[in-house]
Parts: sequence; structure tokens; C-alpha cells
Amino acid sequence: MNPYTFKIPQTVEFGVGALAKLPSILDELGSEHVFLVSDRMLESIGVVGKVTSIVERAGIDCTCFLEVEPNPTVAIVETAAEAYAASGATSIIALGGGSPMDVAKAVGVLATFGGNITDYEGANKIPDRILPLIAIPTTAGTGSEATASAVITDVERNYKFSVVSYNILPAYALLDPELIMTAPAGVAASCGVDAFIHAMEAYVSRNASPFTDAVAEKAMQLIGANIRRFVACRQDAEAASAMMVGSNLAGIAFAWARLGNIHAMSHPVSAYFHVAHGVANAVLMPTVVEYNALADNGRYRVIFDAIRGCNDPIERFEPSMLVDELRRLNADLGLPASLSEVGVTEDTFEAMAEDAMKSVNVPANPRQTTKRDIIALYKKAL
Ligand SMILES: [Zn+2]
Repeated sequence: MNPYTFKIPQTVEFGVGALAKLPSILDELGSEHVFLVSDRMLESIGVVGKVTSIVERAGIDCTCFLEVEPNPTVAIVETAAEAYAASGATSIIALGGGSPMDVAKAVGVLATFGGNITDYEGANKIPDRILPLIAIPTTAGTGSEATASAVITDVERNYKFSVVSYNILPAYALLDPELIMTAPAGVAASCGVDAFIHAMEAYVSRNASPFTDAVAEKAMQLIGANIRRFVACRQDAEAASAMMVGSNLAGIAFAWARLGNIHAMSHPVSAYFHVAHGVANAVLMPTVVEYNALADNGRYRVIFDAIRGCNDPIERFEPSMLVDELRRLNADLGLPASLSEVGVTEDTFEAMAEDAMKSVNVPANPRQTTKRDIIALYKKAL
């Protein structure tokens, strides 16, 4: 058993309509002016307006920064940090999927400690808690509201780097399932599979502990039993609630146990070929799970039962049954089956594998992995 530390220095508020608690949270923080980080897509479907009207009706000022795009860059972080400094706000709302959360965390770092975000690349470079952040996820999801990392793209290096420190964990996570009920089916599918992968990679991680196991198992059960139902009908409040809580628990699990080769390999796929994070992970999932089967340590059976949404007795379990089940999940949800289907080509595999090996998730992967292994896995997934 691994030695472990475990803490969640965060208040989690969950419930259908939980958004209404926003004014009392800002009141608790003594914040009369909040800076909201989100994107134009969420503005266009009225989600940003829903949040700002709740805040403004309570007599609290709100400055919006809505220029966040997928795979946010160093330049966007700088622009957002300047806008924050000019606003006079004293707290930040991060509204969205992973990208607004990443930008909001990075702005929190720069607003509190100054400098450039690249100064904080890597683990534990943030000296103390950043200013209060209220994370409101609109996908289920990245789990980013519960994680201690921000992933930023450095365009010059064509590289996604992470800023990892428990000091950037949002002070509040506000989980309102109503916010994911308007998601398109494709987004619900790729984000839902990504959340399942967070729990699964944390569960088989070499850094797993009994705490992260408990949280990851519950996350896999909630997501496994509800992902098909939720993608089929996002208005299903019970399924949406299960997905939102499952995604949050998966985020808590991987914040401590880290991830594995799926995430290590998917970041270069997104950086080089602009494939959405959840889609890149879903495509890589069966190939990496098959590779890791040698190191399954009896855990694949638990994952298999979770993703089937039941534990009806089966005669004999083989790890390949989990691989087949995950392929079936992708197919049922309309997700692509190969890297070539999403436009990936072989010529950059060498450089991509180089980048993947820099990830903190490779050492956490249950089966030891070399650069040569990563290239072979990319080829297999092609
Ligand atoms: Zn992910």
C-alpha cells in the first residue's frame, strides 16, 4: 500500500438549482466584485447571463472575460490577467469546462503572485493559496473544479504544460446539474468518457491510495450506470446528477492519484492535431487499457462491472473483456474508433512521444512505459 496524504480544502455545493447559492458564497468571501471567466459559446446559449443575473441581482459587481478558447494559451492567460487587474474584482468565478477553469486558476496565480504563468510550470511552484475561486462546471466533465492543476498551451513550444499545486484548488465547487442538461449529445459523450477515464486511470494508478480508490470506485459506478442514459437524454435530471457528481469524484481521485498513459498521450494529440481533449482520450482508451492489462492486479474486473452498470455474475473474467466493453461504449456513444478518424497522421509520432514522456502521468501508469512503447501505442491506435 502506498503512503498517502489526503485533504480536500474546498467546499462542495451540489444540487439541482445550486446556482442560487452564489450570492451567499460571495457574501461569505466578502467579495463585492467578482471576475467571471468563461467563453463565447456559453454566453451564446445563455449560461453566462444566467450566472451574471444571479450575481448582479444580489448587488454584486461582475466583470466578464469571455475570450477563453479550447486548449487555452499563455497569451490568453496574460490577457485575462490584465483584465482582472484592471477590473478591481477580489474573487473569480470559473464557469465552463476545463478551459475556463484552467485560465481562471492561472489568472488566480498571476493576480496573487505576479510574474508569467510559465514561471510556475511543474509541481509545487506556488508559494501559498491563491485568491478565492468559485468553480462552476458546465460539463461532466473535466473534474477540473476539484483538481490542483491548470493545463496551458505554450504555442511557441507546441506543448501543453501543467501548473500543479494544491494552492490553486478552487475554494468552492458549485455543482448544479441544470447546467449540463443543455449539452449537445457529442459533448456529453466525450466529456462523460473523459470523466470515466479520470476515475479509471486514478484507480489503476501506481499512486492510488485507499482514499482515492474509494472515491474512484464510486465515480466509476455513477458514470458507468448513467453515461448511456445521459447521452441519450441530457434532460434526465437523475442521470445528469449522477454524471455531475461522478465527474467531481473522479476529479478528486485523480488530483491525488494522478492519471496514466491515456492522458499523457492525449495531450500531444490535442496539441498537434487540435482534437478535443475528451475525444482524444476516448480514442486512445481501449489501446492503453489493453497495454496495461499485464498490470491489472485484479482491478479490471471492478472497472468492467462499473461500466456495464451491473455486477451480474459472469463465468470467467478476462482483461480483454474490459477492452471490448470500452470499445462498445465508444461505439454506442458515437465516438471515433481510431486516431486516423480524427485526422492524426504518423509523421509526428516521434515528437508526440517525446512530449508524452514529459507528463507526470507516465510514472503513475501501472505498466512501465518507454518512449518506444508510446510510439507503438500511437501506431496501434491509428
Ligand atoms: Zn481528462
